[in-house]
Amino acid sequence: MNKNTHYQNLQPNYLFKEITDRAVAYTEAHPEHKLLRMGVGDVTRPLPPAIIQAMQKAVAELGQAETFRGYCLEEGYEWLRQAIIDNEYTPKGIDLDIHEVFIGEGAGSDLGNLSELFSSDNKVAILEPTYPAYADASIMAGRPITYLPCHAENGFVPELPKQKADIIYLCFPNNPTGTVLTYAQLKEWVDYARRNGSIIIYDAAYVAYISQPGIPHSIYEIEGAKEVAIEVKSYSKSAGFTSVRCGYTVVPKETGLQAMWLRRQCTKYNGTSYIAQRAALATYTPEGQAGIHANLDVYKATALLIKNGLQTMGYEVYGGDNAPYIWCRSPHGWDSWSFFDHLLRQCQVLCTPGVGFGPSGEGYVRFSAFSKSEDCIEALQRMKEQI
Ligand SMILES: *Cc1c(COP(=O)(O)O)cnc(C)c1O
Repeated sequence: MNKNTHYQNLQPNYLFKEITDRAVAYTEAHPEHKLLRMGVGDVTRPLPPAIIQAMQKAVAELGQAETFRGYCLEEGYEWLRQAIIDNEYTPKGIDLDIHEVFIGEGAGSDLGNLSELFSSDNKVAILEPTYPAYADASIMAGRPITYLPCHAENGFVPELPKQKADIIYLCFPNNPTGTVLTYAQLKEWVDYARRNGSIIIYDAAYVAYISQPGIPHSIYEIEGAKEVAIEVKSYSKSAGFTSVRCGYTVVPKETGLQAMWLRRQCTKYNGTSYIAQRAALATYTPEGQAGIHANLDVYKATALLIKNGLQTMGYEVYGGDNAPYIWCRSPHGWDSWSFFDHLLRQCQVLCTPGVGFGPSGEGYVRFSAFSKSEDCIEALQRMKEQI
């Protein structure tokens, strides 16, 4: 046996461990202080009753001979795939075939697994700072990566790669910067991919947080995108499903990859839980919609509370309008970890150091709207008094 030596090229995944270690060290030394957690990268609000009831009903069905079910199709139940087309795509004028929609257990696995469809010498382009899964999956596969730095000077919008990229990962609204692309900006990427024969893997995990008009909610709103883009979506952040596990990936036939992805899923994935798919379907009922939008409204209000609070104190902040993340420049030219330590020691506030999402994140921290709003109010008050 020879190990996959590409794993040696992965960066140690120390970010969240280091945050926890520093927080634990601080609370052990100062047990009297309450930490305010503003680094939360996971949803925190309970699932709406309509979704819980759908799952309870699904569980009960599995306990009755008449309604018991075994394996479902590897690509998911037709009723869920059709509901996705009817609710997410048809209203935007996007025409999809049901065989182009694949239900899965969430974006994380698909984003990693899609990498199998491409030749190992393909060149990858990835914006940074961003979610680390794209780079990690590419490193594991041994592919050369060009990073596209995003910083205040380019409005956190990546520039087109100078050298030809075969596989391009884009994530908008971006985690951690909260950046969105306009139609014109996204069209430049679709046009680039069409000119160069590239494929775009578009992570649309946060589109439910887009509040401003004039921002595409799907890459297929751009003409020609069905030839060059795979869209990966998840109920995790839109409906609070990080524990339920359900998402979907759209692989249009025009990409030439739909049959390969079907083949891959049939061999290596035996389908998504019936219970999770029933829960996903319930997000499209009027009660389900009301429930998930009530939660989204709370997160969106918290995002604005953090953003406005920091801005009022004179911080340079980005994001927050179309994403649950606020990207904040460290004051006094501090690096990310210096600001993190300062917030921890002076204010007992926990955030996420921006440098953990890529080198261009140095000098920034990320605040999360998944945090409790009362914690955010208190954190902002402490920052006003202490920094
Ligand atoms: C949270 C998140 C996801 C969702 O992952 P799941 O596996 O669906 O829970 C995908 N992309 C980004 C950028 C995320 O932050």
